[in-house]
Formats: sequence, C-alpha cells, structure tokens
Amino acid sequence: MLVYNAAQNLQDVPEYSGLSEEKIGELVALADHPDHVPQVIQKVRALGIRLVVVPNLSQCPVDGIADWDAQGRPYIGLSLRYGKIDNFWFVLLHELSHIMREHRDAGPDCQEDQFMQNQDQEKEANDDAARWLIQPELLDDFIWNGDFSEGAIKAFASQLGRHEAIVIGRLKFLHYVPWNRFAKSHVSIRDHLEDFVLKDPV
Ligand SMILES: [Zn+2]
Repeated sequence: MLVYNAAQNLQDVPEYSGLSEEKIGELVALADHPDHVPQVIQKVRALGIRLVVVPNLSQCPVDGIADWDAQGRPYIGLSLRYGKIDNFWFVLLHELSHIMREHRDAGPDCQEDQFMQNQDQEKEANDDAARWLIQPELLDDFIWNGDFSEGAIKAFASQLGRHEAIVIGRLKFLHYVPWNRFAKSHVSIRDHLEDFVLKDPV
C-alpha cells in the first residue's frame, strides 16, 4: 500500500498516453551517467507513469512493482535495495515493459524469486529490459570477440552510450566475468535518488 498511496499523492503527473519503443529509447539514452538519474525519474513521470522510489519494498525483498491504480493510471515502485546504477536501470526497464505491454497482475518483482507467477510476462519484461540496454547483436559481437578487459568493456559501453556497469552487470549475469571483478564500476545512485525516496514510510 505504501507505493500505491505514494503514487496517488504525486502531483503534476499528466495523463498516461501509452508507451512506445521510441519513448523508451529516449529514456535509455540517459543510461550513460549516474547524474542523469533524477532526469530519468522526471521523464518517466512526464509520460504519465507514477514512479515512486522507496528504501525497501514491504516484507519481501522486492526490487520493483508495476501496476494500475483504481482509476486505471499506471504506477511503478522501485526499491533502493541495491542502489547500483545497473540494477536501477534493469528494474526500471523491466517495470516499464510491464506497463508498455499492459501486463496485468504482474505482482512484485524479486530478483531472486524462482517461483514467479506469470513466467511468460516476466521473461518478456526481462528480455525487453536486456535488449533496450544493450542491442543483442552488438552484445553477441562483443562476446564473440572475447576481450573482457576493462579497456574493451569501457570502449564498448561508450560506443553503446551506456554506463560501463550496465555492460559489466550483463557479462557477470552471463558468466563471462566473475562476480567479484570490477566492483568499483557498479556505482551507487543513492545520492542521485535522495530527493525522490519516500521519507519515513508508514
Ligand atoms: Zn516483472
């Protein structure tokens, strides 16, 4: 209810008029630097999506939720559980996919949840988030090339217009890079979200 109520209370959010790949593309263009995070939040809200950020979501360690309120307005809740730039982008885009595709009853999204309902919807949202962040053909070429050095990763991220943590996070997920490498690259965006995080949740 925390996210629901907070989303209701957001002021100056225009009416939602649908999401498109193009609108998503304009958002993801800001995934190159943590300083752009506040602008991303504003832009999502300007699309009519009531996006709120909470320190942690309810009892289960949830990363995000997307749903529609009683008036049919879309809202998204993001948790700051990890607070890293790559996690922020993946969860945000996963939830935006649920909204764009009008997945109903998607429920809360836990990264570790192996027993998610609506597996097809979850796969679709994961696939969208992945391809929006890194064009699959370009990722395949990069992996085929086999150079996972810091220099190669940074050059690839810069070519994509993405923060390097987004590339590193994917390579770790795909087991091309060990989890403990490049830890410093996963920069925190907590400071950038400070103005948006709900204070004193009740
Ligand atoms: Zn989901």
